[in-house]
Amino acid sequence: MRHPCLTCGACCAHFRVSFHWSETEPALGGTVPAHLTEKLDAHRVAMRGTSSKTPRCTALDAEIGVRSRCAIHPVKPSVCREVPASWEFGAPSPQCDKARLAHGLPALTPADWDLEPPIAA
Ligand code: SF4
Ligand code: SF4
Repeated sequence: MRHPCLTCGACCAHFRVSFHWSETEPALGGTVPAHLTEKLDAHRVAMRGTSSKTPRCTALDAEIGVRSRCAIHPVKPSVCREVPASWEFGAPSPQCDKARLAHGLPALTPADWDLEPPIAA
């Protein structure tokens, strides 16, 4: 089974992805490439493309529902690590469900995480 996020990408093309500007400042331990962000206010920046009425993160390399990868996965914003996929950790995720449904994809179910191999006879 492939991780469901690898054939999805919906959440990266549904929400505004905003976070504290310090995450783009190397001197403060920030890792997010600043040129991929835009200023929102005195405290926050957002990933470019996600403040639009039809959000799509500039770092998203995907065909939604078919294949998806984050081009800056190792250094992506903290907020991107905080959205769990539904049932990955035993509970539904309203954000995941909302994003998938908005892109015409069914919400994930526990069966999507069935990693158990068939029991040998
Ligand atoms: S919407 Fe859910 S399944 Fe799709 S990429 Fe985001 S967390 Fe993963
Ligand atoms: S930085 Fe990566 S994980 Fe975060 S919204 Fe953009 S593509 Fe998705």
